[in-house]
Amino acid sequence: MDIIFTCPNCRQQLEAESSMSGTSINCPACGANLVIPEPDPANLKVSPPASAPPKAEKHFSVPTTSAPTEVLIEKAKRPLEVAAKDSEKTMRIRCIKRTECVEVGKDHFDEVVSEFLNKIGEKNVITVNTLTYTYVDMGTRMILTDYGVMIVYRG
Ligand SMILES: [Zn+2]
Repeated sequence: MDIIFTCPNCRQQLEAESSMSGTSINCPACGANLVIPEPDPANLKVSPPASAPPKAEKHFSVPTTSAPTEVLIEKAKRPLEVAAKDSEKTMRIRCIKRTECVEVGKDHFDEVVSEFLNKIGEKNVITVNTLTYTYVDMGTRMILTDYGVMIVYRG
């Protein structure tokens, strides 16, 4: 589940995993220190249906009726607007903690991070930062420190 929130300093819209609530990070846009908020119904992201066709496809439909010339010129402009919007994708962050990638004692951290980077594509990756975090180990009740990465990307 993702939380959508804005940087209190520069109003950049950001997204983070809800598991990262309460984590202090630096805004990827302006560098200000901010704390990822707790998830609540107002900021939880509702995932769009994956089957929704890309909006750009509509612009290739050919009008079947003889429309006035002005209308055709209007339509010709639209793919450019779509292209402009495409380059202004929301800036997002994805934090991957190492402990989330350990299954039955096997560390899949590198694979998980590699897979995610390949999924979003090199051109959309802005930065990859390391992070450290503490957690309470369920078995030993000890506070342990571990590491992960924060990937800033457009998507
Ligand atoms: Zn900011």
